[in-house]
Amino acid sequence: MGNKTFTIIKPDATRKGHTGAILAQINSAGFKIAALKMLHLSAEKAGEFYAVHRERPFYSELVEFMSSGPVVAAILEKQNAVEDFRTLIGATNPAQAAEGTIRKLYAASIGENAVHGSDSNSNALIEGDFFFNKLEQF
Ligand code: ATP
Ligand code: MG
Repeated sequence: MGNKTFTIIKPDATRKGHTGAILAQINSAGFKIAALKMLHLSAEKAGEFYAVHRERPFYSELVEFMSSGPVVAAILEKQNAVEDFRTLIGATNPAQAAEGTIRKLYAASIGENAVHGSDSNSNALIEGDFFFNKLEQF
């Protein structure tokens, strides 16, 4: 038993066929999958998910990208899940991400950066509940 974080494998990574490799890397790093699904976000739902960024200059680009193809959403469980997952994925800008991190390996740019990771325990719960009902969370 540990605490939870939430991730999205973004449309660039699913499009390039990296879903399996990314899930394997997540499992190898000690995260247990507590919920998992593939879906295509509407622009409205993508905008709602990233509403915290609605005043930022990149918001419309972000919404368009996140609704451009299927994504894989997952709730992950591990001790220290939020912080350890942010370490595993690397910096937002893949050019600054550490060697071996998911973004270093699979992301092309700051906009199309392969994966999302929650930034706090409270947001992890909110984001998990945004994608999964109680019957879908283990
Ligand atoms: P995420 O929330 O997706 O895990 P993050 O927490 O590392 O990413 P945020 O600052 O929350 O980074 O930005 C959310 C997302 O918005 C980024 O992952 C990226 O896809 C996009 N984004 C952030 N900054 C820029 C930018 N300068 N130009 C284009 N897109 C950006
Ligand atoms: Mg963020």
